[in-house]
Amino acid sequence: MATMITSDCINCGACEPECPNNAISQGEEIYVIDPLLCTECVGFHDYEACAAVCPVDCCVTDPNNVEAEEILIARARALHRDVNFADAFESRFRKGAGKPAPAASPAQKAEPPRAPAPVATPAPRAQPVPAASPADGLDGVDGPLSFLELPLLDAWEIQVCCFKCGERYAEPARHFSIGNVLWCPRCYKSMVVKDNLNFRIRTALKEFYDRWQREQAEFQAMRQRELLEFKERRARELKDFEAHQREELAQIKACLLEISESYDAPGKPAKKGSLFGWI
Ligand code: SF4
Ligand code: SF4
Repeated sequence: MATMITSDCINCGACEPECPNNAISQGEEIYVIDPLLCTECVGFHDYEACAAVCPVDCCVTDPNNVEAEEILIARARALHRDVNFADAFESRFRKGAGKPAPAASPAQKAEPPRAPAPVATPAPRAQPVPAASPADGLDGVDGPLSFLELPLLDAWEIQVCCFKCGERYAEPARHFSIGNVLWCPRCYKSMVVKDNLNFRIRTALKEFYDRWQREQAEFQAMRQRELLEFKERRARELKDFEAHQREELAQIKACLLEISESYDAPGKPAKKGSLFGWI
């Protein structure tokens, strides 16, 4: 036995579904590890999966039963005959250097159903609120530009599905810190937040917020650029129209001048030799 559970165990059950070898079970008082099945997760992880999720750090290496890596991988191969462990298998003895073993076939590994990955659900529906309007305040269709407002990170709720009874329940995002224990409200089965779950939720939300703000800024910049181009075009058109009007004005003035100069007022002396003169 290389990994053992100490008497600090609080029977939360979080470690049981994590074991790739089904080595963990509930004992009379606390959870226990079968030493003939435990491989310290060699072949599957470069860490002990049970220790990674235990909220009270009571999955520890048994100092009285230290086993070499070769013995542990040989045990893993014996337990999972249809799994092809690569030469560079995952091992806690070589952290970060190995490759995970292929997934075990369903027939080979009959373990309790895992809790499906929690799903983040939008917090209370976002309401449109006016965004900071640009200097000219005319980038919206009929007023200032407005965007949906994102809720605060703490306002998000994550849907969790209990792997024991299937009950779905929502937990605030802040409850998904590493090592925190979540309890099913129906059957009181616990689930411990592991580092990869915490990482996935934080990463998903951060990427979403970054993308949201980037797209909003890009949209605002595009709208302002279009508005600027529109204003420039209108100014150009106005200038062209003014030039056209000046030309029209000049033409009508010239026309009036020409009329006034050519008008034969009554009594006006006719030019001699005029074709239609009366003298
Ligand atoms: S160390 Fe790994 S193989 Fe051993 S009991 Fe824990 S989870 Fe199972
Ligand atoms: S995760 Fe830790 S406290 Fe919970 S059952 Fe397993 S050993 Fe006990």
